[in-house]
Amino acid sequence: MSHEGPSAGGEIPYQQVSEQDWGRAVASSFRYRPAYGAWMYFGPCPRCRHDTATIVGEAIIMRDIVHADPQPAAVVLPKLTVRCQCSHQHGAGNTGCGAYVNVYNVRFG
Ligand SMILES: [Zn+2]
Ligand SMILES: [Zn+2]
Repeated sequence: MSHEGPSAGGEIPYQQVSEQDWGRAVASSFRYRPAYGAWMYFGPCPRCRHDTATIVGEAIIMRDIVHADPQPAAVVLPKLTVRCQCSHQHGAGNTGCGAYVNVYNVRFG
């Protein structure tokens, strides 16, 4: 037990990585749904396994809480950069575990 790292909690360390496997896992496991007039692309981060989500388009900031989200228009993105934005602390001042990838020809709607 002499190898205790500086970060507690057993989270994997923050590291900026972009790997093809990560991209493939994102493309196959992430799903989308309408969110505040935009699209939310979400799923478990293949690297750290925490839930992460990316908002695509311009989300409407609603002053009042309404239960019906406006349906955003369908969109096909030739290229979308997805990065892990999980809420876990993988390193001081960082959001997510650092994994990111470009996915291509993603369709929403
Ligand atoms: Zn994470
Ligand atoms: Zn992650």
